[in-house]
Amino acid sequence: MEYEACIGLEVHAELATDSKLFCGCSTKFGAEPNTQTCPVCIGMPGVLPVMNKKAFEFVLKTALAFHCEVPKKLNFDRKNYYYPDLPKNFQISQNYYNVGANGYVEIMVGDDVKRIGITNVHIEEDAGANKHSEDPRENFSLVDLNRAGVPLVEIVSAPDMHTADEVDAYMRTLRNSLLYLGVSECKMQEGDLRFEASVSVREKGAAKLGSRVEMKNLNSITAVVKAVNYEIERQTECLKRGEKIPQETRLWDDAGGKTARMRSKEASHDYRYFPEPDLVPVIVATEWLDKVQSEVPELPVPRRVRFINEYKLSAYDAGVLTDERALADYYEATVKAGASPKGTANWITNEIARELNTRNIGMDAWRVTPAMLAELVQAVEAGKVSTAIGREVLAQMQDAGKSAGAIIAEKGLAQISDTGALEALVDKVLAANPNAVADFKKGKKEARGFLIGQVMRQTKGKANAKVVGEMLEKKLGG
Ligand code: ZN
Ligand code: MN
Repeated sequence: MEYEACIGLEVHAELATDSKLFCGCSTKFGAEPNTQTCPVCIGMPGVLPVMNKKAFEFVLKTALAFHCEVPKKLNFDRKNYYYPDLPKNFQISQNYYNVGANGYVEIMVGDDVKRIGITNVHIEEDAGANKHSEDPRENFSLVDLNRAGVPLVEIVSAPDMHTADEVDAYMRTLRNSLLYLGVSECKMQEGDLRFEASVSVREKGAAKLGSRVEMKNLNSITAVVKAVNYEIERQTECLKRGEKIPQETRLWDDAGGKTARMRSKEASHDYRYFPEPDLVPVIVATEWLDKVQSEVPELPVPRRVRFINEYKLSAYDAGVLTDERALADYYEATVKAGASPKGTANWITNEIARELNTRNIGMDAWRVTPAMLAELVQAVEAGKVSTAIGREVLAQMQDAGKSAGAIIAEKGLAQISDTGALEALVDKVLAANPNAVADFKKGKKEARGFLIGQVMRQTKGKANAKVVGEMLEKKLGG
């Protein structure tokens, strides 16, 4: 018997707005506890929420980017539950309406593009946070409401993923997409992005899904991948033994590398959703929808596929270049400025990546503009400077903010390809190395490399190695 896993993900992302969803409090991370609160977000009686238009627009943009249908008129719902970090005893969310539904996102696993269904995209407010002390003498917990009312987008996928690799690609694509859209900063360490996975296993080819096991406490992309792998294995083994899998919620224990039962579905929450009476419905006028749609950029995976087809790049290079929007824009602008697509990809993924890495800076601090890089790539490809010198020029362009041409001229770095200019130097090297010359004549490859290396040393790397090699053949008879 063969088995197949079906995995769905719920992703909560904090939106990159300055203020909270229903009040003017700041959303800035890391402030002193309870300093970013007001009567609205701490749930005082008699207060009224007012929708943050930018937050709504961010969710709308996300829904449109994932090809969702958007209703013309939207309402909001109360999700009722009691918890110390939720002073109102309800979260304003969406249940009967969603900002978007029935969409999809494209992911890439290996060389294959796969569509994952997006069941819905909705808006919701975050809860506060309970702070539990590590010190056993402090037998109390504290509540910080700075996060209460911070806007979230929740993205619910269909159970369309079948392997942990697909789940991994989905999470990374979603994260990169939200960054492309500019709707969330996606800082995992600040809790901007939170994942919940549900895993079920069935006999391969069965029409119905197996019982759903939801997993909580997944704090990183790596934790989700590990937990999903563990659950697929555990449930498959259960089915092989002929056991039934109970529908339940399980907690991932990252240190122990396993999941443990948290609660059965019967005991789980019934949220008693009902329409939020304090908010007016939002009407999504056609002009507004069109405006937001026009601001949706090409997403990372479609862009990657286009790079592969249009610029004839490998899937790997196209992936590196399109993970981050700024880098992909930089690449395309450089090609547009006249540099070859393949050469530009190499310079960015190797040389610029290394410069950024050793300097510990991001693209925002990179001073070499696309036009400047295009000039350098063209100079190397035309043989004006060697690749090795080109690398030095690149570093100096970043340091001095000058063009490749200016640095090459100033420092006399132009490659020497003129046989006339190299003649005397080559003769000098040959006279000084009779043993190598003898070896060369016997056809020893190392001798050839050694002699070229000597000429390169004399010219501080500026000699055209190909031309020097040809001169050696001519003089010594190859
Ligand atoms: Zn507030
Ligand atoms: Mn939620």
